[in-house]
Amino acid sequence: MNPFGYQRVTAPEAAVHAGAIQGTKFLGGGTNLVDLMKYAVEHPHTLVDVNHIGLNEIHADANGARIGASVKNTVLANDPGIIDNYPLLSHALLSGATQQLRNMATTAGNLLQRTRCYYFMDVTFPRCNKRAPGTGCDAIEGFNRIHAVLGQTDEGPKSAHTCIATNPSDMNVALYALNASVEVMGTKGKRTIPVREFHRLVDRKPDVDTVLAHDELITAVTLPPVRFAKNSWYLKARDRQSYAFALVSVAAGLELDGPGPFANIRSAGLALGGVAHKPWVSVEAEHTLVGKPANEETFKKAAEVLMQGAKGYKDNAFKIELAKSCVVRALNQAAKGMVLA
Ligand code: SF4
Repeated sequence: MNPFGYQRVTAPEAAVHAGAIQGTKFLGGGTNLVDLMKYAVEHPHTLVDVNHIGLNEIHADANGARIGASVKNTVLANDPGIIDNYPLLSHALLSGATQQLRNMATTAGNLLQRTRCYYFMDVTFPRCNKRAPGTGCDAIEGFNRIHAVLGQTDEGPKSAHTCIATNPSDMNVALYALNASVEVMGTKGKRTIPVREFHRLVDRKPDVDTVLAHDELITAVTLPPVRFAKNSWYLKARDRQSYAFALVSVAAGLELDGPGPFANIRSAGLALGGVAHKPWVSVEAEHTLVGKPANEETFKKAAEVLMQGAKGYKDNAFKIELAKSCVVRALNQAAKGMVLA
């Protein structure tokens, strides 16, 4: 690991001031950043510790939620206001990583998780546009089981624009279905970014994951008033039951006009993980559900719309049918209503 400096700050304004210097990185739980530093993928000259700046409170009820950026994943998943009103978020968080990692990982850090593409994480591979812009992409002709089938940029392995990486977070998928917002603070002031606009598709800049400016600090995540509470489900398909990233995941929520098998759908939130550079949503797919009966036929149509344009590679083409099946299953579970153990 390269030598680096460490600076502890005690207020968000001081963090922004310290973070504005090029070469610094904010340190939350460090569960992703410190690994990447050990692997020589990231090499900040200074870490600005933002764990002690008063951003660790949660307020959640039926009228909305405000989650501080430093709130740990375990604390958030077990918060009574989140469990009662946003069980989809709790369910997604508990699907991620391991208990030890969730005890350390923060809300802001989860939003900023970087891809687990093997070729990005291992500097002995020469081509990775995300790690070393302009070098190409070894994943295109390599082992690409965990890679994207939607929204990717593929101009060939030698192109400086190619990247088929996926966003690895579970929490982010739930936040997209819930239509969350991200509050940030920078040297130019504060702003609020809808989470669906927070992460980027590759769009000719594979090395840039989000719309966050270098000096901007995430201060909170907010959730709108509850729409579907218990009528939601997070489904994660992965290679093993624990400590594995999603091959495909689905966050599904249905606002129904009544109980039972004959209910119609008033509104829906639907997002896919493990298939694209950011959690994948389609307003058209959500509209496909609205006003329709909450049944298998409706859910299959939404899955087809959501997966339109999908393109697989040598090792990951299976994700396309897997994703459709997972969408139908998650929506069926959401219609039945979630009961968390
Ligand atoms: Fe790098 Fe993206 Fe290609 Fe992976 S898919 S090797 S992250 S450019």
